[in-house]
Amino acid sequence: MDSMIKRLENQRIGESSDASNDCCKIDGAKRMPAQKLISTGTLGPANRGRLLQALYDMGATSRADLARFTGVNRATIGGIVQPLINQGILAEGEVVPPNEAGGKPATRLWFSKNARPICAVLLMHNRVRTCLVSLDGEIYAQRATDFPTELADASDAFRIVSTCVEETIASANLPILGIGVAVAGMINTETGSIVNVSLAPYLDGFPVGPELSKRFGVHVCVDQDTRAFLVGDRWFGQGRGRRTFAAVYIGEALGGALYLNGHLYRGSAGAGGEIGHTTVQLNGHVCQCGRRGCWETIASLRWLRDEAKARGVPKPHMLNAGRLVTLAGGGVKGAKELLQQYAFNISVGLANLQQLMAPDCIVLHGDIVLGGKTMLNLIEGSFRELVFHRPGEEIALAFGDSEDVAALRGAACLFLSELLNFVI
Ligand SMILES: [Zn+2]
Repeated sequence: MDSMIKRLENQRIGESSDASNDCCKIDGAKRMPAQKLISTGTLGPANRGRLLQALYDMGATSRADLARFTGVNRATIGGIVQPLINQGILAEGEVVPPNEAGGKPATRLWFSKNARPICAVLLMHNRVRTCLVSLDGEIYAQRATDFPTELADASDAFRIVSTCVEETIASANLPILGIGVAVAGMINTETGSIVNVSLAPYLDGFPVGPELSKRFGVHVCVDQDTRAFLVGDRWFGQGRGRRTFAAVYIGEALGGALYLNGHLYRGSAGAGGEIGHTTVQLNGHVCQCGRRGCWETIASLRWLRDEAKARGVPKPHMLNAGRLVTLAGGGVKGAKELLQQYAFNISVGLANLQQLMAPDCIVLHGDIVLGGKTMLNLIEGSFRELVFHRPGEEIALAFGDSEDVAALRGAACLFLSELLNFVI
């Protein structure tokens, strides 16, 4: 908790120094006109975002503490909080007695128990999962449906998705605020359409956002699944209070997401984060994307299973990081070498990410998490050999949640940020 508060305080200091740097720009002898950090039009949403993020970071908090931690004055906090209370999003909670110096008792603000929940959807190549997420991150009314293997049509897939959403919504006592969708593939965040799901090509081009919005009459926000993990990490997990960190998903496919200088970075129309398709072998194998030597061809679950088969490791089709660690620990022939190779191959892509973007922390998600401490230590060992070191620099590699619920929670956070129109 202390380190988190310290990170928050650093964040505030960082933000104020950014602001002073941006106040005016000196270009040789010519002084450029002062430029505001954020335009007046976006000041409200930016402050609202900081306030809600501080609430997620610290839990139920008084107005005075919110003002202190966000660096925003009390009057501004009041102006942000009241509309959120009127909208039923925040509520006054526990009363904080005045301190010895006197003053009025304060109440802690938290998300209202009566606030409408968000329906979260995780759309993968072979299944869909849905649930309701309360504004304080509680998950309930979960549903999941596998797509039949012979499925080859986007409208059939959509029927399955909308049935799942309908059943989840039916279990809510309240109407929903809207729907947040995380897609395990490339998406266009501006149109809410799927660009490409490599293992389910029939979904390519499908406008899942507009279709769900038409079907359920609510606002829908669509984003990539790794970005949902990242935002879930930022609000509820390893990324709490951090200003610059990354999330990487390692499973059947690889994906990345970046949180830079206090903001989620998407790239143009959400095209960023395709780290799985950066080239790491000039004459490597053909990737699912059609290019050669992508990181995904040497560091995904698919590579692991193919390689296990070639090396004669038992039951290769059942292999995952957890089982590989067990087999290696049990002295099964070829397992230890395969484990070391897998960890090294993963560290190569992570090191490339580190060298370019220098995140303070990379949170790993997906099947790789099943490998536990052994897997993480192996990846970290070769990662540290591949990256530059600066004195005093702290780079952390951490395992996040392997569970789909982390992505569902993140999808709900992405929706909420869009609904309240604040920058995350
Ligand atoms: Zn590729």
